[in-house]
Amino acid sequence: MKHVSLQVQGNGAPFTSIADAMADGPRTRRSLLLSAGAAGSVSIVGHVRASAEDSDGDGIPDRTKRSAAFHRRLESIFGAEQFSGLEVGRRDLLLDVRYVGETQLVPSTKRTIVEQCRARGIHAQWLDYPRRYDLEEVTERYGTAVKDLLWGRRSFYAGEIESDLKNVALQLVVVPGVSKPGVEGRIYSHWMDTTGSGIDGYVNGFSVGNRAVVAERDDPLEEARLVFHEIAHLALCHDDDPENTGVMGTGDDVDLTDEEWERFRDGLSNVRDRTGYDVLFRPCLWHENLSAVLE
Ligand SMILES: [Zn+2]
Repeated sequence: MKHVSLQVQGNGAPFTSIADAMADGPRTRRSLLLSAGAAGSVSIVGHVRASAEDSDGDGIPDRTKRSAAFHRRLESIFGAEQFSGLEVGRRDLLLDVRYVGETQLVPSTKRTIVEQCRARGIHAQWLDYPRRYDLEEVTERYGTAVKDLLWGRRSFYAGEIESDLKNVALQLVVVPGVSKPGVEGRIYSHWMDTTGSGIDGYVNGFSVGNRAVVAERDDPLEEARLVFHEIAHLALCHDDDPENTGVMGTGDDVDLTDEEWERFRDGLSNVRDRTGYDVLFRPCLWHENLSAVLE
């Protein structure tokens, strides 16, 4: 078992080093953490366990795959009709969806994403959480901004997601979005506001790697693109190449480029997170926002 201590010194110097650490392209969270630790540029965020055997690197430790108890646990939560099991050697991607208010995802969104993944050797499974969350309760208890939902000690994610599900599935929260005129149906992100993105910080969706939130869309195609985009952020950043018509590029197609598919498949291990600090280490956030701030 290897322990790596990382430290963050505030809002100054570490940014440059992290950006540098990422200059040679996207990496998995673990390698980023290790390189950040090795560079000595960041100070204490917590303990990172570069641990559990994961022979195919899909983020799901072998021991949980082989455990009948774990299988039963997932089946008991999501039902056998949704959870079809995990297979050693297969690239699995579990999508644990939490619906807030009256939201839903249309079947075509789920089907498209499953088919796209299957065609690329990724076995994606949609796991709709059996219980719907009351919008008022969520608003009162946690708030509705991205931060309130996805990270922070008192976030929806921290309060509602079962700890044994956090490291095996990507959690996707579907919310109605705000009713504020001009930004209707969007979600507020402090981060985006600070970096001058979105409409005054209001965005359609947001991802911090192994967890994401989307605001419900009326148009099925738009929904598919948005949902796939946020899921793909598990391993991928935006691409400003106009030739990239996939969801990380222009978004014309509900697809990724060949090269992106490869990186996505390689990055499935990002599902596992034991740091609790994804937001600091989602490469895209550093890359796209902070490097821009530094320029
Ligand atoms: Zn994005």
